Amino acid sequence: MSPAVEFRNVSKNFGSFLAVDDFSLTVAKGQFVTLLGSSGSGKTTSLMMLAGFMTPSSGNIYLDGQDVTDLPPHRRNIGLVYQNYALFPHMTVAANVGFPLKMRHVPKDEIANRVKATLEKVRLHQFADRFPSQLSGGQQQRVALARAMVFEPSILLMDEPLGALDKNLREEMQVEIKRIQREVGITTIYVTHDQEEAMSMSDNVVVMSRGRIEQAAPPAELYEQPGNAFIAQFVGSANVISGKVSVNKGTASFVSDAGVVIPLKPADALIDGTRKAAVIRPERVRFTTAEDTVGIPATVESVLYGGTMIRYVTRSGDQRIHVVTVNRGDTPLQPGDATYLAWEEKDFRLVETPQAETRQT
Ligand code: ATP
Repeated sequence: MSPAVEFRNVSKNFGSFLAVDDFSLTVAKGQFVTLLGSSGSGKTTSLMMLAGFMTPSSGNIYLDGQDVTDLPPHRRNIGLVYQNYALFPHMTVAANVGFPLKMRHVPKDEIANRVKATLEKVRLHQFADRFPSQLSGGQQQRVALARAMVFEPSILLMDEPLGALDKNLREEMQVEIKRIQREVGITTIYVTHDQEEAMSMSDNVVVMSRGRIEQAAPPAELYEQPGNAFIAQFVGSANVISGKVSVNKGTASFVSDAGVVIPLKPADALIDGTRKAAVIRPERVRFTTAEDTVGIPATVESVLYGGTMIRYVTRSGDQRIHVVTVNRGDTPLQPGDATYLAWEEKDFRLVETPQAETRQT
């Protein structure tokens, strides 16, 4: 079976500026894939090329195995939802949702049936006769979603659809969009700069930076096995410690630039003198005692009491290490306390050092 979507080595220049650089991606039918990246990373440009509103400078785009690179938007059978709902203010909800069918000359009876069924899917059937101005932001966005799905497009593209909503409504709509997408089973490509949104909604997340794909993987893989320091910091938070691998007579360690020596399990892949970045998530660091041989000594610098979580900044030599613990009601450590830090071996990852051009700004 052909994939629902395929980008093959797609690039897009605006003059001498390369907005999308050798973008290759395959999306299987029914998947929810998110393009995640900071402003200007090329997400919208990639989506617009898929929708047909922009033409790639090179490379090809396939929908259901068909090369659509040069096909106009209206022949691609794609549903689109934007941040600004772009509903017609003078039309009722039902008329807005029925509009794409009217444009396709679908008979009136069938329009009525399909509008009703689609409004039921987004749970807005009781609002069919209202005008957009009589709906909340979340409801308007669901109308926009219904309008994008009513003609049964082969894929749904959503560009920051929740950007205009406040945090609570945004979270509610994430759940709602995910429910609808799962029920309808429609292949969806979603664009956001919000990493939590991307992680909680997607089957696969494509992290983009400066027009390139940094890593494409399921959310848990991105979090647990970030390919480089940029991803580690962009997806969740991470201690990224620059340093060198040291291998000596069967023992191995990581020596941070700040001079902290962290013991490593000797492995063939470790080459003496290689520059690496060590990645360790703050919630995977635990406080321990001197007797625990895996610990490194540290001093607590500051403590942020957050109710559910307690956030610590600690210092080991000249190296700052952030630690997050779940608040179990014990007395937190205090600034100035001497402690030891430890972690499971699997949670201490060596990755490529951050490149100047991929460092998060
Ligand atoms: P945002 O989250 O801010 O929408 P994005 O990741 O979607 O960002 P794009 O809109 O794809 O980024 O833009 C990628 C780069 O291409 C940006 O630097 C942008 O300024 C540039 N760009 C986009 N469209 C054009 C255009 N029509 N002409 C010139 N440059 C453009």
